Amino acid sequence: MATISENIQELHQRIARACEAAHRPVQSVTLLTVSKTFPGDAVRAAHAAGERCFGENYVQEGLDKIAELADLRGALEWHLIGPLQSNKTRVVAEAFDWVHSVDRLKIAQRLSEQRPAGLAPLQICLQVNISAEASKSGISLAELPALAAQVAALPRLRLRGLMAIPEPAGDFEAQRQPHRALAQALAELNRQGLTLDTLSMGMSADLEAAIAEGATIVRVGSAIFGNRAARA
Ligand SMILES: *Cc1c(COP(=O)(O)O)cnc(C)c1O
Repeated sequence: MATISENIQELHQRIARACEAAHRPVQSVTLLTVSKTFPGDAVRAAHAAGERCFGENYVQEGLDKIAELADLRGALEWHLIGPLQSNKTRVVAEAFDWVHSVDRLKIAQRLSEQRPAGLAPLQICLQVNISAEASKSGISLAELPALAAQVAALPRLRLRGLMAIPEPAGDFEAQRQPHRALAQALAELNRQGLTLDTLSMGMSADLEAAIAEGATIVRVGSAIFGNRAARA
């Protein structure tokens, strides 16, 4: 089996090829290493291989890992990419650097109020339900402009952009469509006066399509750490 370090090298080659095909500089795409369900030692191995941005889905698991890896805190950036309930906003505002999954004003207001004064503003992406799935979290495209304007005005947050988890699609062209829709939504918000620079989109299976449409953060777990389902 390939090591974490080998998988990371291979992934950076994938990202570089996708950037080349899209005529984009390779530095325009950041790899967010999704460490959910994998132990702190896996994060240490990825950090030793050069990674510094890590994504967690579950608040408590993320908090535990951040505490376990406190010795690396200054060298790592922690991103919450999973659902956030209002009773967990305080611990998230205190511990994380980014939240990609904001889809309600109330959550954003609490994060802003609870972000400690001594820390940099919390970096925020609004999660958009780009495939309009009834069961998925994320705000609709129709409601996005109003929420974005309100969140951008909150003092202890910095609204950076948009995040989406599109429905799985088979071929490259089908994969591109939801990513293109998210990129167009970001461009529209910027035309209306916001200054957003982040498109958090693309995972192990569709990162080439996401990069072709302008992704600036790709969130990758299984291509680095292996299959989560196959773990005991
Ligand atoms: C798990 C997860 C990922 C990573 O998915 P892989 O298919 O393992 O690369 C990315 N984004 C979110 C929101 C996730 O929950």
